Amino acid sequence: IVQYKDVHKSFGDVKVLKGIDLDIHPAEKVAVIGPSGSGKTTIIRMLMTLEEPTSGDIIVDGTNLWKMEKNGAMVDANEKHLRQVRGDIGMVFQHFNLFPHMTILENCMTAPINVKGEDKKEVEQRSMEMLERVGLGDKFDNYPSQLSGGQKQRVAMARALVMRPKVMLFDEVTSALDPELVGEVLEVIRDIAKNDDMAMVLVTHEMDFALDIADKVLFLDEGVIAEQGSAADVIEHSENPRLREFLSRFR
Ligand code: ATP
Repeated sequence: IVQYKDVHKSFGDVKVLKGIDLDIHPAEKVAVIGPSGSGKTTIIRMLMTLEEPTSGDIIVDGTNLWKMEKNGAMVDANEKHLRQVRGDIGMVFQHFNLFPHMTILENCMTAPINVKGEDKKEVEQRSMEMLERVGLGDKFDNYPSQLSGGQKQRVAMARALVMRPKVMLFDEVTSALDPELVGEVLEVIRDIAKNDDMAMVLVTHEMDFALDIADKVLFLDEGVIAEQGSAADVIEHSENPRLREFLSRFR
């Protein structure tokens, strides 16, 4: 469902990604691990079209994110094209990014109505279903400021799910939470991973969690995928010394 083909990304003179080739299959759950600054966030921000690759292609469900065909030639994608491809991708951020002036139900409803032009009643019903699913059905008319960090993060997940994305991205979604709130958020992601057939990409430092839910783990190191394979092969059996050293910090 997602392909990266020789993707490079630099910020000024700093080469952050140095040739990423990656295939993500429909329904596949992919965990991305690696040291700070290795480019994990940049990989998924590019998929969310928040960063443009310096070179290379990213293809989602057959559509090139950053290029489009015009009069038989491939040209840079315009805003309309980007908006369309973005509709297929859901993202949950480290810092929730909820709209503070909207209730949590309105937070869930705004994108399907305003970006996709969907029917309000239908979106409302779906939003309530998703809020129930993350355990917050009774809080639908609360504002984000009335919720705990864990609850806010669960709203962010419901909001992404309401869009029915083909791919869901999770960027270190538990790292800004108090430790006692991490479990409830991981539980919701686990439920999504086990029951939904969309592809998921998670940047995470929760190794046991990755072992539990990921079909594939990527170890990113200095801008390249230094290791990839099943969760058990990468996290438990790899002999790559840099990966072993990285993992030893979590055990
Ligand atoms: P962490 O685990 O600390 O979040 P990461 O692996 O997710 O790290 P990235 O956030 O992808 O790493 O960043 C990789 C490198 O790119 C870092 O050195 C960072 O400073 C740099 N970088 C990221 N975004 C920008 C930007 N918009 N402008 C300049 N440099 C950036």
